[in-house]
Amino acid sequence: MEKELDWGNLSFGYMPTDYNVRCRYADGRWGDIEVSQSETIDMHMAATCLHYGQEIFEGLKAFRGKDGKIRIFRLEENARRIRESAKGLLMAELPEEKFIEMVRKVVELNARFVPPYGSGASLYIRPLEIGMTAQVGVKPASEYLFVIFVTPVGPYFKTGFRPTNICIMRQYDRVAPRGTGRWKVGGNYAASLTAGEHAHELGYSAVLYLDPKEKKYLDECGPANFIAIKDGVYITPESESILPSITNKSLMQLAEDMGIKVERRHITVDELAEIDEAAAVGTAAVASPVGRIDDLDTGIKYVVSKDGNPGPVVTRLYETLRGIQLGELPDTHGWNTVL
Ligand SMILES: *Cc1c(COP(=O)(O)O)cnc(C)c1O
Repeated sequence: MEKELDWGNLSFGYMPTDYNVRCRYADGRWGDIEVSQSETIDMHMAATCLHYGQEIFEGLKAFRGKDGKIRIFRLEENARRIRESAKGLLMAELPEEKFIEMVRKVVELNARFVPPYGSGASLYIRPLEIGMTAQVGVKPASEYLFVIFVTPVGPYFKTGFRPTNICIMRQYDRVAPRGTGRWKVGGNYAASLTAGEHAHELGYSAVLYLDPKEKKYLDECGPANFIAIKDGVYITPESESILPSITNKSLMQLAEDMGIKVERRHITVDELAEIDEAAAVGTAAVASPVGRIDDLDTGIKYVVSKDGNPGPVVTRLYETLRGIQLGELPDTHGWNTVL
């Protein structure tokens, strides 16, 4: 039985569910998958994750489809990406098969929290890995804990699929040029909180970061990838400090399927004057359309949406991806794991 919740009004917060799954790494190997009903983690106060930020995570979603079945979107891609993140911070890499088994298990165990089809809500899946060894010397831990919990989240666009405004502020960087930007690391988020809050105070939904080395090219849009449509071409920044978004990768494939040319390349700030559509893309929203981009240093306001509506290409890409996730459209690339 599905749980009776006000699915349409859930926030992107945290709500307890029945179970989470865990796996521990010690003595050079991963142990068995444990099912837990506890919402807390018992750890040593000297654990490396607490002092030196040895923490990586993922974010993916499960949906209740039109046929009533549960679909998990691009599970294998997340399994691969968190291994890359682990490599980046010298943490133990969880085998992809184990990641997949853990995600399937935690979703099955909490199936009653997968929101019904049509509610716009979904089950957010949060895998995370932390360094557990007690030490004060700066070196990687030898013990790790991998946890996956789930929580139902409401529709991202409560007031409809509408454009929001973003801004460029050169006094902030999210990451360093050859730093940890390409990995999904909690510390990157800590480093971006000041900028994000500043932008929110000024009425913007996110900061459009520039490349941290030259401050010349577009990088990421808050915790999301930036995409734009220019003369019918899908463009997205090429940069070594960008987190490779699975949503962006999927949208690029869908664009190609639609016969839209895709370019991953440097995009200069000036080029914003020539784009027809833009969006911030990621698991949370799929695509959040951009209305205007204000460069707060030069005072230039780049009006992307002239009529205040999302553009046709971004809308079509968004609807196609959502349709695949909900089992309304054929999953031609095999992106869904159907339970
Ligand atoms: C998670 C994340 C994204 C979006 O990635 P998806 O796989 O599409 O959810 C983009 N940028 C950053 C910094 C992220 O952490």
